[in-house]
Amino acid sequence: MVFSLFIIIFVGILLGWHSKFRKRVPILMYHRIADVPGERNSLPAGKFIEQLDYLKLHGYNTITLSELYNHFVHKAPLPPHPVILTFDDGYEDNCRVALPLLQERRMKATVFPIANWVGRENKWESFKHRPTRTMNWDELRVWQAAGMEIGSHTLEHPFLTQCDETRLQEELVESKKILENKLSTNIDFLCYPYGYFDDKTLIMAQQAGYKGALAIFEKTPVWRQEWFALPRIPVSSRQPLWEFALKVGRFHILFIILRKLERSMKGLLRK
Ligand SMILES: [Zn+2]
Repeated sequence: MVFSLFIIIFVGILLGWHSKFRKRVPILMYHRIADVPGERNSLPAGKFIEQLDYLKLHGYNTITLSELYNHFVHKAPLPPHPVILTFDDGYEDNCRVALPLLQERRMKATVFPIANWVGRENKWESFKHRPTRTMNWDELRVWQAAGMEIGSHTLEHPFLTQCDETRLQEELVESKKILENKLSTNIDFLCYPYGYFDDKTLIMAQQAGYKGALAIFEKTPVWRQEWFALPRIPVSSRQPLWEFALKVGRFHILFIILRKLERSMKGLLRK
């Protein structure tokens, strides 16, 4: 009797989780599309093509963050098997290499440029000490004209959790303003540098007028969709295609759970 009850509760919980998870859309995180051996944030174009073709072949449809937002808030319909592709920092190869590949396949993506570093060489990530240029304003306009989405990745790419209130306000509000003025569009989504945020960051991002913000794993709830702590799944240059398939598949949320567990274990071991 007790055993049957346990089974029923267990299956019930599983089904409940399943229907909840089914509605979750995988959000992938890319940086550069370039061949930099040994650099996990730099995905060679060949591998990127393989991944886009996998999505196409298996009936996935790329959507923007605005489409996801409109679906949850205004009940706008979504295509079958939706997936979101995001690019952090806005490197020039996103426009030169990734954009034509996306366009050929009628796919969409969101890029997050750093407002004060548009068209300049990066200083926040080394890529094996090779200076890497970001998209300039003209390239961002090309990206935008192709129907792609643009969000903010702050002004200077700091750890937002280490900023005082004045600096935090500036990073969130000014970056939005600069991008909106230069690109004549609304900037509705924010991407936290290094994925770090805290309660203060989250509240101030809401007050700055964003509709949502993207993190990576840290502090992101997995049981519900928190619009200012959306988790993303990094796509590493080292991963084989089967791993990519699992990351966009039905149980992609398990990757987030596993990575969160891995991080917590590492944190505990360090103590
Ligand atoms: Zn970044």
